[in-house]
Amino acid sequence: MAGDYDFDDDDHKESATGGSRKEFDCPGCNANNPVDDGYGDGDELRCNYCGCEYKVTVNAEGRVKFKEI
Ligand SMILES: [Zn+2]
Repeated sequence: MAGDYDFDDDDHKESATGGSRKEFDCPGCNANNPVDDGYGDGDELRCNYCGCEYKVTVNAEGRVKFKEI
């Protein structure tokens, strides 16, 4: 039961690479946040539930990471 901070085993559908990202799961509180405008590499997101802010990194494989600001 270690902390699952990584998004390596992504259960979500990953068929559409570079597709629309209209939501994100907060790494801090696990809440699902809608992002109406979508987001991509370099964007900053704020969790509506815990208030934490995260910087988005999208690597070459299209994998999304969140780094707490
Ligand atoms: Zn949160």
